[in-house]
Amino acid sequence: MYHADPADEGEPSSGFFNYSIPVLFLSVLFLSCHDNNQKVKVITPVAVKDTSKQVVKKPPAIAAKQKKKKKNIYLTFDDGPNKGTKNVLDIVQQEEVPVTFFIVGEHVFASVGQGQTWDSLKMAKNIELCNHSYTHAHNRYDKFYQQPDSVVKDMQRTKEELLPDNNIVRTPGRNCWRIDSLHFTDIKKSKPAIDSLQNAGFVVLGWDIEWHYDPKTLVVKNTADELLNQIDSMFSKGKTKVKDNLVVLAHDQVYQKSGDSIQLRELIQKLKKKEDYELALVSNYPGIMKEIIDSLKAAPQ
Ligand SMILES: [Zn+2]
Repeated sequence: MYHADPADEGEPSSGFFNYSIPVLFLSVLFLSCHDNNQKVKVITPVAVKDTSKQVVKKPPAIAAKQKKKKKNIYLTFDDGPNKGTKNVLDIVQQEEVPVTFFIVGEHVFASVGQGQTWDSLKMAKNIELCNHSYTHAHNRYDKFYQQPDSVVKDMQRTKEELLPDNNIVRTPGRNCWRIDSLHFTDIKKSKPAIDSLQNAGFVVLGWDIEWHYDPKTLVVKNTADELLNQIDSMFSKGKTKVKDNLVVLAHDQVYQKSGDSIQLRELIQKLKKKEDYELALVSNYPGIMKEIIDSLKAAPQ
């Protein structure tokens, strides 16, 4: 099961994949071929200080590798391309952090500016572009999810027109999850439609925490510090869907104003300073990479 178990707090990650760097316990021999005669010098930088107490001094590089980060945070931005998207892209690129954008297909074609933003997204490095439907249900969610076939077609349209190589989707207006056996549906009436998405080969990613905003003013309701406290709390209480992995939902359109942009930059800078947090793209979320590999194997050659 993927649900976090508070009793496991402090234990190693139990996700499908463990991307941690293998810890090296063996002494390392460095081979050096610097002299002109091509003689091989063997240097052993590992000094054993006190064998009776098993204290071994390791080279700094190896010591650094052992200090692995344990908690993954996935920053995700929904509903672009829109007026806030370019600003979000600029901030995350300047801060050199990986983030994922969930795109609404018809927004790409809504104006010349949005088309240009889409081009910028496609050229940018260190970001991932995923599918947030074609129409966003035109914000009429109940009606949209009554017709599972239409929901699948809506996702397929964005996939075919814009994101042919990506099967990761987020459902408009619904926090639903379908990653292999990880299933969660926030509003049960939507269940058949969400199941249909999984049956059609999509991986559905929801979110653990949302950076809420006022829909009238488009101003964030919480400061960066408040959101950071919420993130810390979710990890410490084991409330994320998968232990040690937390998906943050934010919305591009909120960060078109300077005040909110400052909050976004501040959140990112503070997350970067936390040694046990690692920012990651959603394809690294436990179980998703396996689904991607399986779908590639199943695809016609
Ligand atoms: Zn949305």
